[in-house]
Amino acid sequence: MNILKNTEIEIITSVKHILTKDKLNVAIVPHESPDGDAIGSAIGLAEILVNFGHNVTIISVNDYPDFLKWFSSEVEIVIYERNKKQAKEFLGKSDVVVCVDFNEASRAGRLEKKLLEFSKSKILIDHHPYPTYFCDYTISEPQYSSTAELIFDVVHQIGMEKNITQNAAEALYTGILTDTGSFSHNTSRPNTFKVVSELVKFGIDTGKIQSGVYHNFSASRMKLLGYCLNEKMVVYPEYRAAVITITEKELENFDFKPGDTEGFVNYPLSIHNIVFSVLFIEKKGLVKASFRSKGNFPTNQFAKSHFNGGGHLNASGGESKLSLNETFKKFTQLLPEFKHQLLETII
Ligand code: 5GP
Ligand code: MN
Repeated sequence: MNILKNTEIEIITSVKHILTKDKLNVAIVPHESPDGDAIGSAIGLAEILVNFGHNVTIISVNDYPDFLKWFSSEVEIVIYERNKKQAKEFLGKSDVVVCVDFNEASRAGRLEKKLLEFSKSKILIDHHPYPTYFCDYTISEPQYSSTAELIFDVVHQIGMEKNITQNAAEALYTGILTDTGSFSHNTSRPNTFKVVSELVKFGIDTGKIQSGVYHNFSASRMKLLGYCLNEKMVVYPEYRAAVITITEKELENFDFKPGDTEGFVNYPLSIHNIVFSVLFIEKKGLVKASFRSKGNFPTNQFAKSHFNGGGHLNASGGESKLSLNETFKKFTQLLPEFKHQLLETII
């Protein structure tokens, strides 16, 4: 129990008691617009629970990107917005819901109400700071690199390590890989590499996973990235910040597919002395914001205070109901207020 610092032993004991019953129907719910950690954690846990003998379905509120569609696992993934009936039916007969990789019910988007209404056992396994307690059992360990790494340890704590399969290892490895940007951030804890080394022992093809995630883009996505860096990136060296804005029309021009802009926000952080990078994308009358930083600049506080969002210290998101232009203006007007903090940021 010493590895999970925030979670009471009683919670682990209860989770073990619940999940080791016979033949349960278990629904696993990742956050809206699942990323590699959300979908990898969901698939990894699902594989392990199926191997244990449960009937498991992943219910994702919306679709996940094509670059995450090569998993060997054949566990069922129901996309709620496309298949409400099937999702509701499975939730209706579920004994347990496990929420993975999010810290507040609203991150489940249009599934929020269904989650709150669910009256049987609800378990949360997550690594975002500041969890809210919308589940009966909350396993929240913000020091973990990823929910996938945490799931690996939780599975050991509840005595299911024998049920880890190669497909589960592949999915959990993907979660760790993507949430650490290929082991480039949040990797100062030895445990992350210990878990990775255990996962690799299952004989997973790490080269295939790397290619699946990072060498799987369309030509138009690469051109959109080039366009954004060349024409849309504004750098403010005096604030150590950079911002990229993308209109809905520009996305259309580059034949946008979900997931195409994933990772764009990281590029400006490669510029010398830039510590804060922001991406604003116009989407269906709303502006989706992504924030990334280096060092100790807290993007999650920035997101929470000004863009109705949250997340991790160095990676967070939010939204704006203003137009893209007005959102951009709001951001530039906020910069002077953060100048001191940005200039003081230690990297
Ligand atoms: P991304 O920029 O990739 O969409 O999100 C980065 C991180 O911020 C993820 O960990 C995600 O869970 C979190 N995040 C993104 N959007 C929101 C939001 O609207 N609200 C909250 N609370 N977290 C968000
Ligand atoms: Mn995560």
